[in-house]
Amino acid sequence: MNVLLKNSRLVMTQGLINGEWVDADQKATLVVDNPATGEELVRVADMGAAETRRAITAAHGAFPGWSATSANQRSLILETWYDLIIKHQDELALILTAEQGKPLAEAKGEIVYGAAYIKWFAEEAKRVYGDVIPAAQAGRRNIVIKQPIGVVAAITPWNFPSAMLARKIAPALAAGCTIVCKPAAETPLSALALGLLAEQAGVPAGVINMVVGSDAPAIGNELTGSKWVRKVTFTGSTPVGKLLMKQCADTVKRTSMELGGNAPIIIFDDADLDQAINGALISKFRNSGQTCICSNRLLVQSGIYDRFIERLSEAVGEFRLGNGQDATTTHGPLITDKAALGVDEKVQDAVAQGARIVTGGAPSDQGSRFYQPTILADATPDMRVFREEIFGPVAPIFKFETDAEAIELANSTEYGLAAYLFTQNLSRIWKVSEAIDFGMVGVNETAISSEAIPFGGVKESGQGREGSKYGLDDYLETKLICLGGL
Ligand code: ADP
Repeated sequence: MNVLLKNSRLVMTQGLINGEWVDADQKATLVVDNPATGEELVRVADMGAAETRRAITAAHGAFPGWSATSANQRSLILETWYDLIIKHQDELALILTAEQGKPLAEAKGEIVYGAAYIKWFAEEAKRVYGDVIPAAQAGRRNIVIKQPIGVVAAITPWNFPSAMLARKIAPALAAGCTIVCKPAAETPLSALALGLLAEQAGVPAGVINMVVGSDAPAIGNELTGSKWVRKVTFTGSTPVGKLLMKQCADTVKRTSMELGGNAPIIIFDDADLDQAINGALISKFRNSGQTCICSNRLLVQSGIYDRFIERLSEAVGEFRLGNGQDATTTHGPLITDKAALGVDEKVQDAVAQGARIVTGGAPSDQGSRFYQPTILADATPDMRVFREEIFGPVAPIFKFETDAEAIELANSTEYGLAAYLFTQNLSRIWKVSEAIDFGMVGVNETAISSEAIPFGGVKESGQGREGSKYGLDDYLETKLICLGGL
C-alpha cells in the first residue's frame, strides 16, 4: 500500500453491505492508483451484480426500522457523522488527493463542503412539514404528509468523490430513506471512508451500503431493475444519465440527475476586470477544469477582449502543475491518460479551425495525465470546445458585440447547469439572468455552490435539486390522507 495511506485507519478496501465489510465474490479486486504518479495505491473489492443484489436486500430490510426513527434521532446521528468527518478532515483530504489528484487544499475544501450537506440535512430532517387542506366537501378533512421514498440508489463520479456522495446520502438519511451507493471505480476510497465514519456515528446496519466495482453497467442494471429501489440519484455524464433514466422507466422510479454542463461565463465591457479574472480563474481551472460547473466557454465583449486575455494569461502563468500532495502545487493532473488525450484532441480541433494559442496548448512534460493550462483566443461556435464539455484546463475565448448575441451564444447548447456573468449594470444583470436557460446563474461570482443553495440543472443537464430547503423533496413522497364521515 502507498506509504502515505499505510497509517490511515480510514482506508477501507472492502464493500459495506448490511453493516459488514465484505470482499467481492471470488475475492475479485480492482486497482486504485494515484493519477499524479500512476502508482498503485491499494486494491479494493471489485463487486458486481450479485453483491449489489445483497446490498439492495440489506437496504430494503433496514428501511422499516430507519424510517420509523424520529427525525431527532436521525438528526443526531447525522450531526455525529458530520463531527467525525470534520475531526478527520486532514486524513480524508490525504486519501482524496491520493486517489483523485487535486491539490490538498482543494481536497480539504471538498471534505468540508461535503460535510456541510450532512450538517444542513441534520437540521432539515426536523423540518419535514405536511399540510391540512380545507376540504371541498363538508364532513371531511384533507391531510398531506411527507414520507421517505424508500430505498435509494446513488451513483457518483470521480471528480468530487467525497462531496457528491455526502450530498446524496445526507438528504436520503434525513428523510428516512436507506441507500445503496456505487462510487466511481477510480475513486472508491473517499466513499468507503465516509461509510466507515457513518458506521462509527451510529448509522445502523443496512442503512448505508457501498458497492464498489469496475463493471458499472452490471451494478447499474441491478440498481435500476430492482423493484425495491424507489429512486436513483446520479451525478455523472449526460449519456449515462439518459441510459439510467431509460432503465428506471420500467419500474417508474423517481430520478435525480446531475449531468454534464457547458457553462458560459459572460464578461461584459463594464465588468470589474479584477473580479472577472478572479472568477474566471476559479471557475475554469479549479480541479484542473474537471467540474461540471466549470466555465466551459468564455464569452468576452469586444471592448474588454484584449485586456481580459492579457490579464488572464498573466494569472495562468502563475500556476504550478504537480502532484497534489506537494504544498506548492496549484493544479493537479487529469484523472486518466484517456482524459488528457481527450482534452488535447479538443484543443487540436480548435487550433485546426483557427483558434490562436495564447498559452499552453499541449500535454505537459510532468507526466501523461498532465495538460498545460491553456488559453485559446478567437474561438468560434463551430469548434468542439464550444459544443462539448472540455473537462480540462482549457479556456476557449469567444468574442461578442451585443447583449443579444451573448444570450444567443450562451443558450446555444443542449446543456443548462451553471452560467456566470460579470457586469456592473443592474438592468443587464436581471435581463440576462432571466434570459439564459441555466439552473444556476452566478453574477460577479463563480464560487456559487454551498449546502444552502439548490444545485441542479435544466435541459440535458438534469433534473432535481441538491442542497437547500428544496433538496429534501427529492427523497420524499407526498401522501394524502382524506378523513371522511366527520
Ligand atoms: P465520467 O465520464 O465523469 O466518468 P460517467 O457518467 O461515465 O462519468 O460516470 C459517473 C458514474 O457513473 C461512475 O460511478 C460510473 O462508474 C457510473 N456509470 C458509468 N456507466 C454506467 C452504467 N451503464 N450504469 C451505471 N453506472 C454507470
